[in-house]
Amino acid sequence: MKVFLNGQLVDKKDAVVSVFDHGLLYGDGVFEGTRVYNGNIAFLGEHIDRLLDSAKVIALDIGMTKQELIDATVDTCRANGIENGYIRHVVTRGSGTLGLNPYLCEKASVIIIADNIKLYPQEMYDNGMKIITAGTMRNMPEALNPKVKSLNYLNNIMAKIEAINSGVMECLLLNPQGYVAEASGDNVFVVKGNKLITPPTWCGALDGITRSKVMQLGRELGLDVVEQVMTRYEIWTADEAFLTGTAAEVIAVVELDKRSIGTGTPGPVTHKLVDAYRKLVVEDGIRIDF
Ligand code: PMP
Repeated sequence: MKVFLNGQLVDKKDAVVSVFDHGLLYGDGVFEGTRVYNGNIAFLGEHIDRLLDSAKVIALDIGMTKQELIDATVDTCRANGIENGYIRHVVTRGSGTLGLNPYLCEKASVIIIADNIKLYPQEMYDNGMKIITAGTMRNMPEALNPKVKSLNYLNNIMAKIEAINSGVMECLLLNPQGYVAEASGDNVFVVKGNKLITPPTWCGALDGITRSKVMQLGRELGLDVVEQVMTRYEIWTADEAFLTGTAAEVIAVVELDKRSIGTGTPGPVTHKLVDAYRKLVVEDGIRIDF
């Protein structure tokens, strides 16, 4: 396997960063997760835009343009023969001192890994997922804005630990006001009548790329798509619920906190959106010329 590291494709065994890298010492950096479907890097432009925005917010100079990042991503997939898989972009503050000061770090470490992925078992896509509400609250935007896809994922990991300890794979996080934010690694939607509802990002959600594509697909299906502040009441009493994310794609949620949602099986709107999304991911993106 070849990994892109600081301008070069190197063997996996040589793809190493310093133990003084602030990405390791402090979670000081940003990342992206992108999928490749049949040689099409789905929504790559949007992912690179979000990476650059995240970096800007944390005052991190990536040192590469959008086009350079796109070209390096395509090269990394091509070098590894990845026609279907998952790409991880990681940009850290780089190697510095043991102190916090990011300005003492030499320059950003830019990493691109293209590999295979398997997130949830097929059974969960067929029958839907059961989830719980985590006691861990979502970071509030005034502290560490969840719109920034930073390497600091401890908030999400703390919640994920609760989910796994409760015997499920995912969980819902609420914001400090008790409103629904998102899942530990995905955005949340509910269907009620003709409405497709998701919380606004200011409630503490990442501005998910799958989320925005699914909102668009929902509009094309004639649904009334709205961003609305919600509590768990809206999920417990929904007709359908599902999660969206690059890795998870669109996956039904059939139970939250032991309350079954709707019929307790993946609903018709979820099915339609799953199908529409699967069509879109092979069309919208940047093709790898093998
Ligand atoms: N929320 C969080 C916390 C995430 O980490 C992710 C990405 N896995 C998402 C939402 C979904 O975002 P996207 O659709 O852009 O992958």
